[in-house]
Amino acid sequence: MAESRRPPVRLKSPDEIRAIAQCGEIIAALFAELEPRVRPGVSTAALDRFVDDFVRSHNGAVPAFKGLYDFPGSACTSVNEEVVHGIPSARALREGDIVSIDVGVKRRGWCADSAYTFPVGEVGRDAARLMAVTYEALDAAVKAVRAGGHVGDIGASVVSAVRPTGHAIIRDLVGHGIGRAIHEEPQVSNIGRAGFGLPLREGMVLAVEPMLAVGTDRIRTLDDGWTVATLDGSLSAHFEHTVAVTQEGPAILTGGGIWDSAGEKVAGGAPRVGTVGARATVPHSSALPS
Ligand code: MG
Ligand code: MG
Repeated sequence: MAESRRPPVRLKSPDEIRAIAQCGEIIAALFAELEPRVRPGVSTAALDRFVDDFVRSHNGAVPAFKGLYDFPGSACTSVNEEVVHGIPSARALREGDIVSIDVGVKRRGWCADSAYTFPVGEVGRDAARLMAVTYEALDAAVKAVRAGGHVGDIGASVVSAVRPTGHAIIRDLVGHGIGRAIHEEPQVSNIGRAGFGLPLREGMVLAVEPMLAVGTDRIRTLDDGWTVATLDGSLSAHFEHTVAVTQEGPAILTGGGIWDSAGEKVAGGAPRVGTVGARATVPHSSALPS
């Protein structure tokens, strides 16, 4: 079958980027509220209800994933070996679990998308390390979202950050453009070659979202038709930010700030929930946009 023609990448004006950032700030505030609620005994369905109520309490905002491709939840809640697209359920989280919570918000016709992997109580060393490495991979990827670069720089940054650690990069799931729709062009692979792919231009807004695993990079979809899990059952983590290409550098629209060409934060953005480490939270995608 001939490859279909891809729609063009839509550039966003500063006002449009601000509208996306307003959605993103709701998700950043949501994750701060979720952190103390992610505890042993809580069900992913209870977390999903909290997400739904929190988002809808913000003046016209709606959870963008609810009903998207018929997804039943307001958040994706993916536990342990689950990578993305976990369906909220009565499953109670247990001490030592990790749960990746992925949320999209739509308001006044614009969308933002962000994900964060939370520890449930005290987690083991493998889990803590995985979360830290995945967060660092997101940080490296965000810094590559700059005018004059290429989309391949983003995946190349993820590879550079992850290769020394021995963790696996899930390559069959990708990030994506975002704006009026949650999933727009281009696809943003987490495996890339610096200097290759679509040139990055001011006004592009991308959801950047490395997904890593302790073991294999191979995945499978569970019988529920949604949940994607590692094939070997090893732990997986996922952090995602919505990021705009601006004159000043990459601007994280989901709670982060703006980075200059030296990789220093120059404006905005209180740090996200917690700090990376053993007892900590770390941040949250998908060839399927996630
Ligand atoms: Mg996404
Ligand atoms: Mg997402």
